[in-house]
Amino acid sequence: MTTCHCGNDKTYTDCCEIIHKDITKASTAEMLMRSRYTAFHKADGDYLLLSQAKKHAPSPTEIKDIVSWAKSVTWVKLEVLETSNGLADDTTGTVKFKATYFDADGMGIIEENSLFERENGHWVYVTGIE
Ligand SMILES: [Zn+2]
Repeated sequence: MTTCHCGNDKTYTDCCEIIHKDITKASTAEMLMRSRYTAFHKADGDYLLLSQAKKHAPSPTEIKDIVSWAKSVTWVKLEVLETSNGLADDTTGTVKFKATYFDADGMGIIEENSLFERENGHWVYVTGIE
């Protein structure tokens, strides 16, 4: 069994794919965060755009750059370090995570405390706050 890229002990089909097909299925900010990591893995620009708050949405050029960067690196793993709020009854939440990848320069790490909000009835990524 190949587990989902996001690190959950489930297959992609039983995990992030459900959310990639219907974003409202991400009931918590952490689930949305994990689905975004998997979307980076798959270089899925449409989903990255859909799962980002409108006020911080990247332009079409930026999305192109993000997608080609995501394709150019080898994603290693995602670790969720800490979460606050972001549960089914919340309207905002934060998820602190660490994503590891390799690029031409070697190993890279993205560590961020991300802010999530509910927009149009589903979770979206707003911005990094730390
Ligand atoms: Zn997953």
